[in-house]
Formats: sequence, C-alpha cells, structure tokens
Amino acid sequence: MSSESGNGTTFMGVAREKISWWPSIDTERCDGCSGEYDCLKFCPHQVYRPLTSPAKVAVENRYNCVVFCQACRKMCPKDAISFPQKGEILKVIKEELKKRGEHSGP
Ligand code: SF4
Ligand code: SF4
Repeated sequence: MSSESGNGTTFMGVAREKISWWPSIDTERCDGCSGEYDCLKFCPHQVYRPLTSPAKVAVENRYNCVVFCQACRKMCPKDAISFPQKGEILKVIKEELKKRGEHSGP
C-alpha cells in the first residue's frame, strides 16, 4: 500500500478515514473508455475497480485516494469524474484539529 494514502494514514495530522475525499463517477457518462479504463490505469493508488458489461469503473479503495489530488478527473475523456469542494474538506480538517486541541488542552 502507498505510504501517503489509505486506511491508517493521516493527512495534515488527521486520520484519513475522517476526510471524505475521493472521486465520484457519473455512471451515465462513464463508458469504461471502451474497456481501456484510462483513470484506473493512470492512478497509481489502486482506487478504482473495473466493471464489465457494461464497462465502467467503480471506486473500490476510497481512502487510497490522495487528498486534494484530482489528476484523473482532468484526463477523463467523458468528464465523468468529480470531487467534493476543497473548501468543505478543509473545514472538516480544521474542525478535527480544533477538537483535538480542545481535548489536549490544560
Ligand atoms: S477515464 Fe472516465 S470514462 Fe474512462 S473509465 Fe475512467 S471515469 Fe470512465
Ligand atoms: S485523484 Fe489522484 S489519487 Fe485519487 S483516484 Fe484520481 S489519480 Fe488516483
């Protein structure tokens, strides 16, 4: 497994599992790149799983996705990949850090 993403890792000091950052697939648009699965081949973090008949991708290992990476979205020919709002995720991260600060206070 990658050391920079996945279950049990942290991002900005917050457990990866508390951060809802991973791709969403528009299954109406995705055609599996006609069986080539471009995003799956492109991503080095084993986030995607191929589906057949019809060819599409599914998100298999959501926490393997690197927080704030959107590289696969930009290369999808069908514009079928989307991500949450970065600002919303940053808010969650700040809240988590604040909670921790309150708990570890004097
Ligand atoms: S790159 Fe886009 S169209 Fe191709 S498999 Fe991935 S989501 Fe589907
Ligand atoms: S955003 Fe980056 S890490 Fe996440 S699935 Fe796409 S290429 Fe992989």
